Amino acid sequence: MPTVIVATGNPGKLKEMQVYLDDLGWQLQLKPEDLDIDETGATFLENARLKAAGVAKALGQWAIADDSGLAVNALGGAPGIYSARYADSDRARIDRLLGELAGCSDRSAQFVCALALANPQGDIVVETEGLCPGEILPEPRGSGGFGYDPIFYVPDLGKSFAEMLPQQKEAVSHRGVAFGQLMPHLKALTLG
Ligand code: IMP
Repeated sequence: MPTVIVATGNPGKLKEMQVYLDDLGWQLQLKPEDLDIDETGATFLENARLKAAGVAKALGQWAIADDSGLAVNALGGAPGIYSARYADSDRARIDRLLGELAGCSDRSAQFVCALALANPQGDIVVETEGLCPGEILPEPRGSGGFGYDPIFYVPDLGKSFAEMLPQQKEAVSHRGVAFGQLMPHLKALTLG
């Protein structure tokens, strides 16, 4: 069974990535905590590539990375690639975003997820990007998920991400869309 390093330190993300990756029969290993790759890219895809390639090269193993975040239209796409760095905790990130949007009538936003798989030499073998459009709620709703989930509302389902069952979020989320696109390519690969 091939070993693939999951290049993330975010437990919420890891939990969701595992659901998709479990189908592939790979042996998944979490990246070592002290192996940090600087996210110096200007886009989600550039950062996903940097993380996958950096971890793969450092360990000489296959690695898959997810770079994701929330882009709010009225804020010119912020926090975007800085979603994790927007404040020090999930609660503080949500409070900051709601504060910045106070009095704003345009609440439209999208979650973005870029995925990249690198071979042990650090070459990117497959990559993709998935989007999920929605709206920013005036206050948090629901207790599931992680990160910005309690304030991200999906009108078609009438729920915030945090109010959805994990399978519902998987079906519509940016990560679900990205893995849906990537999966046929991953299944076709023979990892040496
Ligand atoms: P990254 O590790 O730089 O990709 O950070 C992504 C950040 O975006 C996370 O720390 C979360 O705050 C946020 N994020 C990404 N995906 C999700 C999601 O599915 N739900 C809620 N927040 C998310």
